[in-house]
Amino acid sequence: MNILIINAGSSSLKYQLMDPETGDVFAKGLCERIGIDGRLNHSANGKKVVKDIPMPTHSEAIAATLDILVDSVDGVIQSTDQIDAVGHRVLHGGMEFFASCIINDDVIAAIEKCIPLGPLHNPANLMGIRACQAVMPTTPQVAVFDTAFHMTMPPKAYRYAIPTEYYKNDSIRRYGFHGTSHKYVTKRAIELMGTKDIKIVNCHLGNGSSLSAVSGGKCQDTSMGLTPLAGVPMGTRSGDLDTAVAQFIMNKYGMSADDCLNMLNKKSGVLALSGVSSDFRDIENGAAEGNEDCALALDKFAYEVRKYIGSYAAALGGLDCLVFTAGVGENSASMRARICEGLEFLGVKIDAEKNSVRGKEAIISADDSKVTVWVIPTNEELMIAQDTAELVSAAK
Ligand code: ADP
Repeated sequence: MNILIINAGSSSLKYQLMDPETGDVFAKGLCERIGIDGRLNHSANGKKVVKDIPMPTHSEAIAATLDILVDSVDGVIQSTDQIDAVGHRVLHGGMEFFASCIINDDVIAAIEKCIPLGPLHNPANLMGIRACQAVMPTTPQVAVFDTAFHMTMPPKAYRYAIPTEYYKNDSIRRYGFHGTSHKYVTKRAIELMGTKDIKIVNCHLGNGSSLSAVSGGKCQDTSMGLTPLAGVPMGTRSGDLDTAVAQFIMNKYGMSADDCLNMLNKKSGVLALSGVSSDFRDIENGAAEGNEDCALALDKFAYEVRKYIGSYAAALGGLDCLVFTAGVGENSASMRARICEGLEFLGVKIDAEKNSVRGKEAIISADDSKVTVWVIPTNEELMIAQDTAELVSAAK
């Protein structure tokens, strides 16, 4: 099967053509500057191509994507008929979606209903869906939601302790994000551990970071909230914060709520603490050169992640498996070691040599560690492709 995976942003559109069974990626690329001028970055067969193509809307971006996929020189298929289905990444499924689903008019209406919860991403995701429907009307389309994996959380995890009307009238609650990644690494951890009957804490640590607590394969809690701002500090996001801090800053500096939220989303996190960069590599280099602010940023990040791991072990009533994934989780041995330092009381014991692994599936805990600690590279595209293939095959 050939599944085209689409991740549409407001001015960009990422794509991959993939075999959901083998995970083989035949081609991938990025349409950028949509609505400005338009540029296609395509790679296939070990070759990269960059083309300036006018893309006033997402429709032209999809058309350019399909054109290059069937291009006689740089393409990988002969005809768009060889695309069996399209899987779309959709940010917010609100309380409407508990799983991926085949797109029809009702699904589109429900994604639209979730726009207030994902005001930046859902409209862009919809543009990608509509553009695909227009150029490939008979190809099945599937929506895969960033929030869906977390919808198994119990009310005590997802409800906020604020007046009920905001939940009832406005669907204000914890949703969580990176769900496709958490779902993928959970699936892999269960396969690798040989049983579903385990308690897992997943640490998706990248530019954006979130943790999830999973038992029996189902998400019980996650660190992001109504929006991706909550949880551990991230590249540029503050993570959890006393809400009154926002009020204080807004009052003192005459800042609007939007400007304040922009500061908390874009100018905070390890970028703010380090004063150097949002990129963990730069911060690790800074700390190695003796920059104390960089050292604090790393320390704070590790401390908050460690606190979440501890609280999730308590929430689950135990811990069998700890998983590290995403840019930092997969690549930074020093951050993994720093996070796990002091978790010995929970049965987490890292083996320094095994922990030197980068970007590969591997156990990094010592043989006598009670908790098995894994590095599992995430593959959100493969998860989207597998969900898409499964739904489309079942519908046949
Ligand atoms: P995104 O949330 O944008 O998907 P990624 O999962 O790609 O982010 O993670 C990006 C982060 O991973 C960056 O902060 C980058 O510094 C970090 N990273 C990548 N490789 C390393 C490494 N070898 N050591 C430390 N951090 C790394």
